[in-house]
Amino acid sequence: MADDTSKRIARFIEPFRVSPGSNVTLARDFDPGFKAGIEKKKDGVDLLKDGIELLTEYQARLAAQDTYGVLVVLQALDAAGKDGTIRHVMSGLNPQGVRVESFKVPSARELNQDFLRRYQKRLPSRGEIGIFNRSHYEEVLVVRVHPENLLREKLPAATRKHHVWTRRYEAINDWERYLSDNGFRIVKLFLNLSREEQRVRFLRRIDLPDHNWKFSSHDVEERQSWDAYQQAFSEMFSHTSTAWAPWYVIPADRKWFARTAAAAVIANALIELDPQYPRLGDEALHDLEKAKLQLEAEAPRGAAADPFEDGESGGNRANGDPAVPVTPAQQED
Ligand code: AMP
Ligand code: MG
Repeated sequence: MADDTSKRIARFIEPFRVSPGSNVTLARDFDPGFKAGIEKKKDGVDLLKDGIELLTEYQARLAAQDTYGVLVVLQALDAAGKDGTIRHVMSGLNPQGVRVESFKVPSARELNQDFLRRYQKRLPSRGEIGIFNRSHYEEVLVVRVHPENLLREKLPAATRKHHVWTRRYEAINDWERYLSDNGFRIVKLFLNLSREEQRVRFLRRIDLPDHNWKFSSHDVEERQSWDAYQQAFSEMFSHTSTAWAPWYVIPADRKWFARTAAAAVIANALIELDPQYPRLGDEALHDLEKAKLQLEAEAPRGAAADPFEDGESGGNRANGDPAVPVTPAQQED
């Protein structure tokens, strides 16, 4: 990875990062219309392409190394562009190594379990990128804004009454720390939409026949709780942006910008993990050389012993280096 590209990405995403320990007021601290000085949509789209190319390359290495997993947590208000962001980020990824998990209203069975259980069950494995479309953070957002959700969760009365939100923040931080310690990098993205842009997007959904299926009157009801959500988001950022799993607040009033920024934050996490293709040890390389000699010996008359080996450079050896002759010591055994 060219150093200047990784530095450029790190600089680009810095304004979105919620400093651990800071006291956030969402409306005061983050502007949904921020463009980071990118004036033209085209420049943003070019940047998005670069970001997605990077993701492609790093995902392949993540899968090959099979040591780390990445969990992308995506939170947003309705119409902020979660689905489009997922589509764009996914466009560069190998479907074998990525999984999107969407969380809806909990089932009766899930309500009968501790609150983190359903999220725990759908985590990515090593080598994989998992995207949570909504996440365990709903447990301190919708559940907090509409307290009847908490009643349905059937907590013991003492737990429900005793600093339940502070305890949930702590539980979430501890759980995320545990996951980080075990090799799972958590990338938390919040798509920050302004109230006016949400209104416009809802109207667009209603007016366009191909989009109105996406609209639900429940969305307008939720909009009435705008201030309560802003408060819940602010507190959530203040308590759960940690050194091991910081939040990124992505300006979302322009879709192209939100997608570019989201891809950049995910790319940055992968750059920091810096997964590497496994390098074969001497013994494995020796086995490959032996297999190669055997296959070359089986070449029918007139066929190249190894069609991938160019006689001059002798490249494409099993170890990726120019041809290294097998030493007599290796030939013996
Ligand atoms: P959508 O993502 O628009 O299809 O809607 C999913 C719905 O599930 C949203 O209204 C969320 O608020 C709701 N939801 C997600 N997680 C929870 C949760 N833990 N408790 C209650 N409601 C939830
Ligand atoms: Mg919805």
